[in-house]
Amino acid sequence: MELPFAESWKIKMVEPIRKSTRQERQQWLEEADYNVFQLRADQVYIDLLTDSGTGAMSDRQWAAMMTGDESYAGARSFFRLKDTISRLTGFEYVIPTHQGRAAENVLFSHLVKEGDIVPGNSHFDTTKGHIESRRATALDCTVDEARDTQLEVPFKGNVDVAKLEKALEQYHDRIPFIIVTITNNTAGGQPVSLENLRQVRRVADKWGKRVIFDSARFAENAYFIKTREEGQQDRTIKDIVREIFSLADAMTMSAKKDGIVNMGGFIATRHEDWYEGAKRFCIPFEGYLTYGGMNGRDMDALAVGLDENTEFDNLQTRIHQVEYLAKRLDEFGIPYQRPAGGHAIFVDASKVLTHVPKEEFPAQTLTVELYLEAGIRGCEIGYILADRDPVTRENRFGGLDLLRLAIPRRVYTDNHMDVIAVALKNVYDRRESITRGVKIIWEAELMRHFTVKLRPAGEE
Ligand SMILES: *Cc1c(COP(=O)(O)O)cnc(C)c1O
Repeated sequence: MELPFAESWKIKMVEPIRKSTRQERQQWLEEADYNVFQLRADQVYIDLLTDSGTGAMSDRQWAAMMTGDESYAGARSFFRLKDTISRLTGFEYVIPTHQGRAAENVLFSHLVKEGDIVPGNSHFDTTKGHIESRRATALDCTVDEARDTQLEVPFKGNVDVAKLEKALEQYHDRIPFIIVTITNNTAGGQPVSLENLRQVRRVADKWGKRVIFDSARFAENAYFIKTREEGQQDRTIKDIVREIFSLADAMTMSAKKDGIVNMGGFIATRHEDWYEGAKRFCIPFEGYLTYGGMNGRDMDALAVGLDENTEFDNLQTRIHQVEYLAKRLDEFGIPYQRPAGGHAIFVDASKVLTHVPKEEFPAQTLTVELYLEAGIRGCEIGYILADRDPVTRENRFGGLDLLRLAIPRRVYTDNHMDVIAVALKNVYDRRESITRGVKIIWEAELMRHFTVKLRPAGEE
């Protein structure tokens, strides 16, 4: 008999978690203005808000922290991090930042100006925010397949090369660079194929443009390339990663994802002029160039994390768990963005809560219902996250309306996945009775989903 699959690690330290009653959760939710970001973590049983900074570090990462060099300038930790990044990506220049959005802020301060157009594949919300706050436009060139959640295609995160070509023909003098997000978070943690990255490179070269990879989940993307793309099966993850980055001019990185650290990020590039330009903004925004918002010990933990998470076994354990949850949801017929993404399951709220009008935010309503059901905290990746159009100030209802169940790395067991699946089934079974959603009573102008205040629609 073939042995079943099991995790490629064992557990050395545990953190207790606590269940609550529905009555408690109802009260906490009211106090949180129906925004799960406003809950206290103690009020959550299984926390799937994000996979960002929520992973469990390994014993080797904790050990590396003890070797951290906290010198203000020229710390050994910086050089260990820089050498690791250069070895994995081929990029010579590295600027640490406190997280991914800070990397965007520093690099885009140098590169993006008013009136610019930045084409890419479903820009992440902070990426879009950093483009739009500079009065530039993020132009989405994702493949149309990504919009149909039930379509089973292997690389749903891809850039539509025809759309990209058209953007360049139309706006080439206003395009400072092309940005490709790997994996494509907003489209459901969907990967981008190596072939697609090569095509983007060819288009960019034809127009003399540079390419940035928003690389938060580059290792998970490499895993999908290895396991799904023709001819890639026999390569190591590290080998694929090297080729991925050979196709880019620079990367911005949220190390809280595939770096498996709790805080951190960086910019890396092969171009001295971009490095020089970004340097000018790193110092006032983030800090001196060899720490840029990170502790020495955290840079050491990141260096080890990057190495560990570009090994097949670690990635296989992770993606297997996400696929396990997807399989459970399949048993119950719950619609999600197919196939399962790398870091999360994105439940298609518009196909679950069909009686809730889009003006009452179905995905946010489903998020609230799942929390009430079992104390599970997911995250709306939908109409609230999409913010308003910067020009018309209308809600943007053009994209998908999803409930994201993000799985932290190396944190929960498959038993937790079973609880999540059954809780969602219970909500799914009573979906016909959910006819009203939520309404906004206060919102920020940009990135409103973190702080938005809501009430049940139809209530005074
Ligand atoms: C998380 C994320 C960011 C922003 O990174 P932070 O570390 O949260 O600031 C940017 N792009 C993508 C694709 C991300 O997933």
